[in-house]
Amino acid sequence: MQSILPLPTQPVKPGTSTGQQFWHTDTQKTIESYSPADGQLIARVYASTRADYDRVVETAQAAFVEWRQVPAPRRGEIVRQMGEQFRHYKRELGTLVSYEMGKSLQEGLGEVQEIIDICDFAVGQSRQLYGLSMHSERPAHRMMEQWHPLGVVGIISAFNFPVAVWSWNAMLAWVCGDVCLWKPSEKTPLTALACQQIIGDVLRNNNVPEGVSCLVTGGRDAGEWLARDPRIALVSATGSTRMGKAVAEAVASRLGRSLLELGGNNAIIVSEHADLDLAVPAIVFGAVGTAGQRCTSTRRIIVQESIYDDVKNRLKNAYAQLRIGNPLDELFHVGPVIDQAAVHSYLAAINEIRELGGHFVVEPGVLNGLGFESECYVRPCIAEADNKWPVVQRETFAPILYLLKYTTLDDAISQQNDVPQGLSSAIFTLNLREAERFLSVAGSDCGIANVNIGTSGAEIGGAFGGEKETGGGRESGSDAWKAYMRRQTNTLNYGTTMPLAQGITFEL
Ligand code: NAD
Repeated sequence: MQSILPLPTQPVKPGTSTGQQFWHTDTQKTIESYSPADGQLIARVYASTRADYDRVVETAQAAFVEWRQVPAPRRGEIVRQMGEQFRHYKRELGTLVSYEMGKSLQEGLGEVQEIIDICDFAVGQSRQLYGLSMHSERPAHRMMEQWHPLGVVGIISAFNFPVAVWSWNAMLAWVCGDVCLWKPSEKTPLTALACQQIIGDVLRNNNVPEGVSCLVTGGRDAGEWLARDPRIALVSATGSTRMGKAVAEAVASRLGRSLLELGGNNAIIVSEHADLDLAVPAIVFGAVGTAGQRCTSTRRIIVQESIYDDVKNRLKNAYAQLRIGNPLDELFHVGPVIDQAAVHSYLAAINEIRELGGHFVVEPGVLNGLGFESECYVRPCIAEADNKWPVVQRETFAPILYLLKYTTLDDAISQQNDVPQGLSSAIFTLNLREAERFLSVAGSDCGIANVNIGTSGAEIGGAFGGEKETGGGRESGSDAWKAYMRRQTNTLNYGTTMPLAQGITFEL
C-alpha cells in the first residue's frame, strides 16, 4: 500500500520535547514503528536516554513553579485552544492513529474526537475545582478545604488508545495546575510526537513555560524510570495488569501516588427479556471493534439457556458478514492486531481452547496473501466455553468471544463477576427488576455497568476505570480531576480566644 501520509524519512529527533523545543541527544538508539496495516516501517524515533529523561524532569519541575501560579481558568483557556488545534488536525491525526495502530479510520477519528471532548470538559472543569467549607465546632472559626496541584504527573500509555488516554490525563492535569511527562507505548511513538507538534503552537503563543508538556520515548525501561522517581508526584499508568502490578509496587515503595487503568475481561449478560435487535450489534461491535484490542472489548457473553441457540445463530450470521482488511479503507469492519506477538497470543489462546474441548461456533484463523502482507490480520471467532477455564479467566487482546450459558440471573451475575478483572459489564434486558438488580450492590462488581448498551464506547463525561485487577483508578469525567490534586484542610480562627478542638482545656 502507498503511504497516504507525509511520513518522516529521517529518524524523528529526539524523544524529549515540550512541544516548543526539541533537545539534542547523543543516542543512536531508535524505536522502529511499523504499521500493522501494511507491515511498512513508517518511522524511526530516537529513544530517550536516562540523561535525556533527567533533563526533562528538571525542566518540568521548574515549569511547575510557574504554571501552578497561572489562574486555573487561564489554564483552561490554553486547553481550549489545544482543543481547537485538535479539531483542525482531526483528519490527519485520526489517519495516523489508524495507520500506526491499525484501528479503523472511523475509530481513529473517534479517538481524536475524545481528545476534543476532554478538552471541552477540562475547560469547564477549570472553573469548578471546588473544595467544601465546613462548620467548625469552635466559635469564630472557619473550616474549608482547598485543592492544590501535585507537581509532575507521569503518564504511561498503552498502544491501543495511543493518544486519547494521554489527553484524558493531560488536559485535566493541566487545568489542575500540574505539568505532564508522557511516556507513550513504544509501539505507537509517532502519534505521540504528532500530538506534541499539534499543541506546540498553542504553548508558544501563550508563553507557556518550557516543560509543561513533556515527552520521553522508550519501552519498559523508560516507564520504570517514572515509576521509581520520587520527583514524579503521580504516575498514571494504562496497560496490562502485569505492568500495573510492577508500577504499583515501585510507586508504593516510595509512597507515591499511582492511578492504574489495566486489563479488562468484560461480559454482556443476554437475558430472555432482551431485545436481540439491540444486543447482537452491540455484542459484535464490542467483540470485533479495534480487532478486540480495547480494554473494554466484549470477551464473554453470558446467555440465558432458553435463547442460547437463537443468539448463537444470530451471532454466526452477523460474523459471516464481517469484512476484514485495511483499516484505512472504510469498506472493512475489522483491521489487524498490533503485531506478530499479538497474533501469537491469539493462536496460543485458540490452541488452549481446543485442548480444553471448546467448540468454535465461528472458526479462527490468520489471513495471508494480497492485502494481508503484514500477517497481522486474524479472524474474529466465537468459542463455546466454560467461565472457569484459565483461558477465559485471562484477557487475550484479540477478537475471541466466549459464549457461556446461564439458568438464573444470580448465576449469570456470579459468572460475570467471577474473573480477576473488573472493568466493564452490561446486561441486555427489558425487565426492570433484572436491570436494577444488575446495577445494585448485589449486581455487577465492575467500574462500568451498562443496561442495553455494550461494554465498550465510554463517553468522557463519566469516570472511567475498573476494580480488582483492572487497578481501581478513575480518569476522565465526573470528579476524576481530584486524582490530579492534593487536598488541604484549612481552619482559620478570627476570634480573640484559643479554644481547642474536642473541648480540651490547656491552661498556662
Ligand atoms: P503493556 O502493559 O505492554 O504496556 C503499556 C505501557 O506500559 C507501555 O508504555 C510500556 O512501555 C509500559 N510498561 C511496560 N512494562 C512496564 C513496567 N514494568 N514499568 C513501567 N512501564 C511499563 O500494555 P499494551 O500491550 O500496550 O496495552 C494493552 C493493555 O492495556 C491491555 O491489557 C488493555 O486492557 C490495557 N488497557 C487498559 C485501559 C484501561 O483504561 N483500563 C485502556 C487501554 C488499554
